[in-house]
Amino acid sequence: MAGNSTVAIHADRDVHPSRAVAPPIYQTATFWAEDANQFAQAAVDPRGKDFYTRYGNPNHAQVAAVVAELEGTEAAMVTASGMAALTTAVLALVSAGDHVIGQKSTYGGTASVLQNLLPRLGVSTTVVDQRDPQAFERALTPKTRLILVESPSNPLLQITNLAAVADLARAHNVITLADNTFATPLNTRPAELGIDVVWHSATKYLNGHTDVSAGVLAGPAELLNRVWDTAVLTGATLGPFDAWLLLRGIRTLPLRVKQHNINGQALAEALEGHPAVARVHYPGLPSHPQQALANKQMTGFGGVLALELNGGFDAADAFLGKLKYPRRSASLGGVESLTVHPAAMWRGMLSEEQIAESGVPLGLVRLAAGTEDTADLVDDVLVAAGQVAKATT
Ligand SMILES: *Cc1c(COP(=O)(O)O)cnc(C)c1O
Repeated sequence: MAGNSTVAIHADRDVHPSRAVAPPIYQTATFWAEDANQFAQAAVDPRGKDFYTRYGNPNHAQVAAVVAELEGTEAAMVTASGMAALTTAVLALVSAGDHVIGQKSTYGGTASVLQNLLPRLGVSTTVVDQRDPQAFERALTPKTRLILVESPSNPLLQITNLAAVADLARAHNVITLADNTFATPLNTRPAELGIDVVWHSATKYLNGHTDVSAGVLAGPAELLNRVWDTAVLTGATLGPFDAWLLLRGIRTLPLRVKQHNINGQALAEALEGHPAVARVHYPGLPSHPQQALANKQMTGFGGVLALELNGGFDAADAFLGKLKYPRRSASLGGVESLTVHPAAMWRGMLSEEQIAESGVPLGLVRLAAGTEDTADLVDDVLVAAGQVAKATT
């Protein structure tokens, strides 16, 4: 089997043959048919690429070919955002009366699907501490259809034992969906651990340039065909140009992730034990409570780390204000470093009790290392942390 960079560059070559080295953009809403037969065939071809762009498009099919091969799955498909990937899959795979299990530390949108959207549709949900594989088992009911996992989790970088959850789910005929946005297929391949469907916010690492909103799903063709049936109805279609940009971004994913891994590790090591910093959460540090599991399940630890500043909310805010390169922004996974102060972001959306319940301390900041030179980023955070330490002592 070819390596990841080779796959990222060549896996789509036969999907829509053309003699252009850079693929054309199929900026069209629809496709014409030679005759009635071809038209009828194209209309029911799951994840087909030349009937109507809401059903599929050659630029979608190219991204899907590369993602499926990187994730090691039979098939893949693209959606207009990561959340479109999640909600379309969930709507396709559960019905009123079913039960879904999710994890406590998870992306906010996923948490809201579990807390608000699904219960409104008559689907009950249970949220468990994903550090304990037995917690998933305890939450199972005869009605459980789906388990949603995410590893490492946003923003606490907790690890879920994907193989253990997948085994449990298989034994009970439950479908597993894993959000692989933080790990990327370079650092974790959930399908190899037994997860059924892998999904991503392709807005993040897969695209990598902070200029596209997109989502992807990867898994067995039979399951994705069911998701596609619903995608045609929800209509969260990725535009052809955005699919083209996403493919262009994915070409360098393996190269970029190498640098994200180096930068994440270097920042985590530089900040751990710093007088301004109470704690660093990063799966590549020996201090991470689940490092043995992280080592087993991951081949690199990514660019995202979380740190708790001594001095709580104000210290966290001051630290972010002193950084030269990373800016405050609600994303990650691009070439530029970005930061989020969750407690500050949530002030507009959650009550103080809800913030406390989330388990995210007021002084926690998420630092998403880009692909800048490692020394520049390390210098930057050490200068900022040094100033914060001086101000608080
Ligand atoms: C950003 C993100 C999402 C949501 O993806 P969008 O592309 O913004 O819809 C889901 N999961 C994780 C882990 C994310 O970081």
